[in-house]
Amino acid sequence: MITVRVPAKVNVQLGVGGLRADGFHDLANVFFAVALGDEVTASAAGPGEGVTLTCSGPDAAVVPLDDSNLAARAARLLAARHGIADPDVRLHIDKAIPVAGGMAGGSADGAAALVACDALWQLDTPAATLLELAAELGSDVPFALLGGVALGRGRGEILDPLPVTGTFHWVFAVADGGLSTPAVFRECDRLREEAGTGSRDTDVPTPDADPGLLAALADGDAVALAGALANDLQSAALSLRPSLAATLRAGTEAGALGALVSGSGPTCAFLAKDAEAAAAVAEALRASGTCRTAHATYGPVPGARVQP
Ligand code: ATP
Repeated sequence: MITVRVPAKVNVQLGVGGLRADGFHDLANVFFAVALGDEVTASAAGPGEGVTLTCSGPDAAVVPLDDSNLAARAARLLAARHGIADPDVRLHIDKAIPVAGGMAGGSADGAAALVACDALWQLDTPAATLLELAAELGSDVPFALLGGVALGRGRGEILDPLPVTGTFHWVFAVADGGLSTPAVFRECDRLREEAGTGSRDTDVPTPDADPGLLAALADGDAVALAGALANDLQSAALSLRPSLAATLRAGTEAGALGALVSGSGPTCAFLAKDAEAAAAVAEALRASGTCRTAHATYGPVPGARVQP
């Protein structure tokens, strides 16, 4: 039995370019891995049992347990790469990452399942091959393998690790219900059309990483990082879920250094001065009635790793 722990991500910068002819957007995406994470356990199954999936945790009821689950898809993809036609494995996801929350929870489970099955089946897949399989599963999966802080370009799948000093303290406010990532990108395009700037890649400049934000990470400067937090999807997430404005305000009023919607939302992320301040912001958010719950956590942390 192999258990893999895998982090959720927050995008400290999410620059969104115009809509490309292939339907994707070019991104300048600074991923940051936080200790709030899932655990995926792979255990041996009898011949012919196939890939089976169970899930526990507060959001377990809304996690799909069929072949669309990224953990199951990852197990099959890894098996296929090694010529195993009908893999047998029992996968269990202990889920702490909010579902459809903009924290790449499904992608995290896909990355964790790759690592767990690789260890269980003793395949010794090279890291570069695992990254390749991860990119095939989805744009956010390679980062969940890597962890730390990284700059994602293209659709997010071209990854460069970034230097970072020390630990940053975060709070995540979990909303009731999720937001569909494609719907948020469509709303972003619609708002750009409405504003008259245009939404195609010929209208919007290709986004780039903000040098000030990269310096704040490298210097371990939480105040500077808070000032540089940026998410081009935030106005689209707020347009689809106007109540998030009250969540962002509640965390800021409780003393957060900075706040933003995490990825495509609806989870909101708050940067705090230290662990004590983060605990106070989480407590205030829980009491505010503007979110379902709030978690204080920290990062960066490593990517998907087998637990001893
Ligand atoms: P991202 O930020 O990468 O867009 P997200 O955090 O907003 O993702 P996920 O939690 O990954 O959203 O879930 C998005 C959808 O993916 C869910 O509604 C669900 O149908 C599907 N899904 C597939 N596998 C999983 C999984 N292991 N855990 C949760 N959702 C999954």
